[in-house]
Amino acid sequence: MNIVYVTSEAVPLAKTGGLADVCGTLPREVAALGHRCAVILPAFRSVYRAGLKIDTTDISFAIPMSPGKLVGGRLLRCLLPDSNVVVWLIDQPQYFDRESLYGDELGDYRDNAERFTFFCRAALAALSRIEMDVDVLHCNDWQSGLIPALLQASPKAFGTLGKAATLMTIHNMAYQGQFHRDAFGWTGLDWKHFTHESFEYYGQLNFLKTGIVSADHVTTVSPRYAMEICTPQHGCGLDGVLASKGGRVTGITNGIDETVWNPATDVHLSANYDANNWPSGKVANKRSLQLEFGLEESADVPMIGLVGRLAEQKGWDLILPVIRQHVQEGRPTQWMILGSGDKQIEAELTALAAQAPQQVAAHIGFHDALAHRIEAGADLFVMPSHYEPCGLNQLYSLRYGTIPIVTATGGLADTVVDTTSETLSNETATGFQLREVSPRGLDEAIGRALKLRYHDQKIWNNLVQRAMDADWSWRKSAYQYVELYDNAVSLKR
Ligand code: ADP
Repeated sequence: MNIVYVTSEAVPLAKTGGLADVCGTLPREVAALGHRCAVILPAFRSVYRAGLKIDTTDISFAIPMSPGKLVGGRLLRCLLPDSNVVVWLIDQPQYFDRESLYGDELGDYRDNAERFTFFCRAALAALSRIEMDVDVLHCNDWQSGLIPALLQASPKAFGTLGKAATLMTIHNMAYQGQFHRDAFGWTGLDWKHFTHESFEYYGQLNFLKTGIVSADHVTTVSPRYAMEICTPQHGCGLDGVLASKGGRVTGITNGIDETVWNPATDVHLSANYDANNWPSGKVANKRSLQLEFGLEESADVPMIGLVGRLAEQKGWDLILPVIRQHVQEGRPTQWMILGSGDKQIEAELTALAAQAPQQVAAHIGFHDALAHRIEAGADLFVMPSHYEPCGLNQLYSLRYGTIPIVTATGGLADTVVDTTSETLSNETATGFQLREVSPRGLDEAIGRALKLRYHDQKIWNNLVQRAMDADWSWRKSAYQYVELYDNAVSLKR
């Protein structure tokens, strides 16, 4: 099959979160199974900084965005590293040559509806001219949500592309790309298309909803999240829309890119290690973090790692009171934190680090190498998300022998097996789940983990060993996607 992934993020070209990890890896894995895969992405400024060789093509396009406003662009191309997966780049500097992907310190860019409508329209215009008969158009998140509906509205306008099966993957239901109805004007379509069956949602334009109703099949990134988003609690208003898809909503868990996230080969670590020598390897990585960040130098003190967006979703309302309590009570724990986002949370973390410099270290910003080092050096990884479509950091933690402490939601519930007497005796435990979603529940789960670590070294070592041995490679998930593509293509014919 010929599969094109439409996305606004793909490592190493553009990244703000897990979407990038998925769209940089899944195409390579599916290609390794014998299919022809390509990615189409806006040519953001970060793309040029990624150091890949970028070629020009002779394909250019001019999209009539509104009466009198013709926006031109051209198609560039490069290859995903270590693969034959072509990345087609939509080059339009006014829209995409900006410091960030979606917004700055003032908030989201005000022209996001226009930028990503242009991206969807330009992607279709460009793809209809490349030499590839596309069987599957795999759209990801709201930024590409208009694609299936644009194809439906003008099936003949894009040549054979109109026959492609369309898949919409939801990486996070909370980000829907909802805009004033006037933004529909950027699609260039007649207003007769602005209906409940496609673009319209309570009088507004909603990119994700449009993708869900129009795509042939919808997926999300874990089986548990696929169930959760069909309920009012997690559906963010779109549970009814999802229900209307019948059985065509599937959950496929993300995997780990082993070429990047493997403690035995990770280029960012002070010491590489594997399941045979992890105790010494992890201590060496812990020590280097302690030295660099001025934390108390001790092999024994448990280091608790946190990496992620500083957003409400990630449970900082649980984490901050627990850190505060540990600092106040002088508990023997160490906190190594990396994140950026909410200014208030940034300020609180910086204040805690200043208050207890030997116990709390906080690096505010996006720092890929440090994320790897924290995964390697920490003993525990805390991720008490209020909801979590899949989550990658807990998977990296398992792989790096850093026991995850998580809430029992979405992908976290699917991938981390809670430690109980039953899961210890049947040897399936890999981490700890909160029994109560509150600061007290988080502290209690940390307490359970530390008790095991200090009082039963043998069981703890088995737990770490099992976490590291768990198979979260992409291969399994890639097979599931291929099966879905196959079904979607045969239903289309
Ligand atoms: P989400 O997509 O909701 O942000 P995930 O756990 O699925 O959460 O994926 C987050 C990805 O982004 C992981 O690869 C994680 O390491 C990375 N990441 C998040 N914040 C940072 C940061 N401040 N510095 C480096 N990497 C980060």
